[in-house]
Amino acid sequence: MSMVEKDGTDLGKRLYIKTYGCQMNVYDSARMADLLAPLGYHIAAAAGEADMVILNTCHIREKAAEKVYSELGRLRALKRARAASGGRMVLAVGGCVAQAEGAEILRRAPHVDIVFGPQTYHRLPAMVAGILAAPAGGAARGLLDTDFPEEAKFDFLPEAAAASPSVAAILSVQEGCDKFCSFCVVPYTRGAEYSRPVADVVAEARRLVAAGAREITLLGQNVNAYHGAAPNGGAGEWGLGRLIHALAEIAGLARIRYTTSHPGDVDEALIAAHRDVPQLMPFLHLPVQSGSDRVLAAMNRKHTADDYRRLVERFAAARPDMAFSSDFIVGHPGEDEVDFAATLALVEGIGYAQAFSFMYSPRPGTPAAQAPQLPDEVKAARLATLQELLWAQQRRFNEACRGDVLPVLLERPGRHPGQLIGRSPYLQSVHVEGSGHLLGALLPVRIVGAGQNSVAGVLEADVPEIGPAAAAVSA
Ligand code: SAM
Ligand code: SF4
Repeated sequence: MSMVEKDGTDLGKRLYIKTYGCQMNVYDSARMADLLAPLGYHIAAAAGEADMVILNTCHIREKAAEKVYSELGRLRALKRARAASGGRMVLAVGGCVAQAEGAEILRRAPHVDIVFGPQTYHRLPAMVAGILAAPAGGAARGLLDTDFPEEAKFDFLPEAAAASPSVAAILSVQEGCDKFCSFCVVPYTRGAEYSRPVADVVAEARRLVAAGAREITLLGQNVNAYHGAAPNGGAGEWGLGRLIHALAEIAGLARIRYTTSHPGDVDEALIAAHRDVPQLMPFLHLPVQSGSDRVLAAMNRKHTADDYRRLVERFAAARPDMAFSSDFIVGHPGEDEVDFAATLALVEGIGYAQAFSFMYSPRPGTPAAQAPQLPDEVKAARLATLQELLWAQQRRFNEACRGDVLPVLLERPGRHPGQLIGRSPYLQSVHVEGSGHLLGALLPVRIVGAGQNSVAGVLEADVPEIGPAAAAVSA
């Protein structure tokens, strides 16, 4: 039963958002909740108890659309049950699968009320109002809005409600991509590259910090392509390096990170920021995809393996303790054993702290999907070989931290009572014993154990909390 205020505002509507994929989607889901809050929606813990369900989808992984359709099948039963008990559930599909599938979703799943893309979710309140204005079960067809509108979505979003943000917050600064890598759907689903103005980003960062965030990760599909309008009516645009300098002036913001970067968009100002801004963490996720120039050209990556190696060297020269991460695709059309060996050689030469690796899988509408494909067994064997090497490097990196004292931002309780989980400057998950009141603190931790995916540490006794400057000076 819903609670209704005297002014007619319904305070009791519940919203469940299931988020797939990347941090960008996590950010978007939070903004969708902000948008729908004025309509009386607050977050529900499960779809079964919700008056509105949004699937915020991702198109990057294989069979992404099929997974969404089977989830929609499960939700049909919930929606029917709700209707049978006299209630109503609004069902919406957003994100990149919605953008790619469009009207096909309404055809295959006619119980869906709204299909909207990543660039139109600022229109959600009007879409929801339109659906609710039609009698339940009476609307002949669901609403479809997968435009790439002229207006910038960010200009129409309410201020992010940072009522209880995580101590490590995320902030979207850039969206979309004009690179058109052969394998990737992002330019088609997220649209053209767009950067938010500097003033908007700084204002949102200030709000996040005022609400308790101590670390902010700047997000973008190509975050280092950032070129936001200068603040205070200033001329021109700022790049990511300059933006990071401005954010570093926010008192209380101890750590800044950014992801994901493209090698082709790295500039000197960004490299220098790693030398000059102590709050900027010494960790870089810089996807290379392949170590073979032939495959990189086929992928339309616009950089060679040596270009990439030189970039890594420049970052490491600016910040000697810099740790690196990457994305790899094995089995792209045309990749042979020599190409794959070049990828292994690149990994051997760089030495990653962590990395993501995938078997190439065709995405309809992308150029690589039209080329002759490699057999699955070949792709699987190459992936296994690459992952063995990457995991060994990750274990070695973690092992090398044993005995170091690292500043750790304690973010959340662990699975076991008395356990806290935080992050090192190098994005390692750090497990420590400690009481819950330490959550949100940035404390020195001695690393005493190392596994593949995390390290274990003990809080250093009698050491005061580390400030932003000291936080960057890791052992
Ligand atoms: N813009 C970033 C970049 O250029 O690296 C991130 C793109 S995507 C969201 C994340 C990763 O998914 C890519 O770096 C790539 O390794 C992987 N990926 C994208 N499309 C893929 C495909 N068709 N098959 C396998 N992996 C894919
Ligand atoms: Fe996709 Fe390439 Fe753009 Fe990254 S740079 S989002 S991989 S097209």
